[in-house]
Amino acid sequence: MGKTKPATGPALGDMPAEEFRRHGHELIDWIANYFEHIDDLPVLAQIEPGDLKAQLPTSPPETGEPMEAILADIDRLIVPALTHWSHPSFFAYFATSTSAPGIFGELLSAAFDVKSMLWRTSPASTELEEVTLDWLRQMIGLDAGMSGIIYDTASVSSMHAIAAAREGVELRIREEGMSGRTDLPLLRVYASQQAHSSIDKGIITLGLGQRSLRKIPTDREFRMDVKALAEAIDEDKRNGAIPFCIVATVGTTSTSSIDPIPEIVPIGEKHAMWLHVDAAYAGSAAVVPEMRHILKGCERADSLVLNPHKWLFTPFDLSVLYCRHMDLLRRAFSLVPEYLRTPEQDKVRSGSDYGVQLGRRFRALKLWMIIRYFGHQGLAACIREHIRLAKLFASWVDESPDWELMAPVPFALVCFRATADAGTAGSRNERLDALNESIMHGVNATGKAFLSHTRLNDQLVLRLSIGNIRTTEAHVRQVWELLNAQLERLRPGFTGA
Ligand code: PLP
Repeated sequence: MGKTKPATGPALGDMPAEEFRRHGHELIDWIANYFEHIDDLPVLAQIEPGDLKAQLPTSPPETGEPMEAILADIDRLIVPALTHWSHPSFFAYFATSTSAPGIFGELLSAAFDVKSMLWRTSPASTELEEVTLDWLRQMIGLDAGMSGIIYDTASVSSMHAIAAAREGVELRIREEGMSGRTDLPLLRVYASQQAHSSIDKGIITLGLGQRSLRKIPTDREFRMDVKALAEAIDEDKRNGAIPFCIVATVGTTSTSSIDPIPEIVPIGEKHAMWLHVDAAYAGSAAVVPEMRHILKGCERADSLVLNPHKWLFTPFDLSVLYCRHMDLLRRAFSLVPEYLRTPEQDKVRSGSDYGVQLGRRFRALKLWMIIRYFGHQGLAACIREHIRLAKLFASWVDESPDWELMAPVPFALVCFRATADAGTAGSRNERLDALNESIMHGVNATGKAFLSHTRLNDQLVLRLSIGNIRTTEAHVRQVWELLNAQLERLRPGFTGA
């Protein structure tokens, strides 16, 4: 590795090895410092829209710049514009975190830069993916009938699952498409009203149209109403539609509720429908042996998505689709032009046969390194602790007269809100919505913690999600104090401003 200097013009080739080594060491030091002092940084970026763009040149540099200058700008420009997802007081959305072995995996993967499309272009990536996903399958107690494949996100995993389900309906959609066909009845997919918007998007992407997705109501604990599901399918069949897929969620986005898979399974089987389980967030909890019950019934599901980049300390991105019918997934997507034909193709798995992407990143490497470094027990211990911390926080909410829990806490997500009524403007519900929104923005503005919200039963609800490998009880106590301080600040004469 080294630049050569032609007689005229800029030097050719990559950064010289010595320079790479020096900056590489510096960068690892920088990252170690970042993690050591991350508590001191504001979790939520304290900048206004456009602030970063205003500080960046509008045109690219004509000549190369020294790495020193580039790295200095990371400190000066990039870090202040970051919302720190790795911060232990990041409690918004689903809190996630990277981990050291995962970072090393990303680094090596960038160095190898393989395009994992065919076995021969990436034997290591292809075979490590199969082995690592089989390890993960065992760790979550899923049966051996399920094979795994890695995609970037759960949105893409679920879209592929629905495509495989549609392929199984035998309507020649791959060959003839869906437009301009009078022989094609309405194809229906069912998911609860709490299902993630990625299911809607998958259906839009596949050309099924939004009217294909029938949203099933949920019960008081935000779980799919199974009776309503059965009735909806019966009604659609009577009307000539083809119900072909049910999407059940283990760990919904708003509340982490769990659809009753064991009761959904017989309904799907009765109508020969595909059951896809969206366990993007909560599936990782099944690595904790006493939590394995959350996947009960999945031994009869057709596919399941789980995101190690959510709660298995894997740097974004890495989503796993487990599928019982890889043949259908392959039938939906395999297309081998002459220039990709290889002599071994019938004996090996090639990732590009199972999705829209041709080239695929070597993502299995980071997951393999994470599983080896922490071990099954180490990963389970972290997740168990997150669940303990969430339940502890929930107990404080429960015991306080000023706050109430808004949903059960099966994992490490707490949905809650302040109940202290203040002022007289509007309805009580409107006042509480405004109060809770102000509390959330107040906490977020301190930079010491970051929370997000949702709406449940038309009420604004705060969400505290614990999923960062660095989060300790002290961080959870601190956010509880911040919340109470905001409540006290807003309580006297609160006008909903
Ligand atoms: N499914 C559930 C239940 C989720 O909570 C999310 C995101 O939070 C997704 C799917 C989408 O995940 P991704 O960002 O990997 O597409």
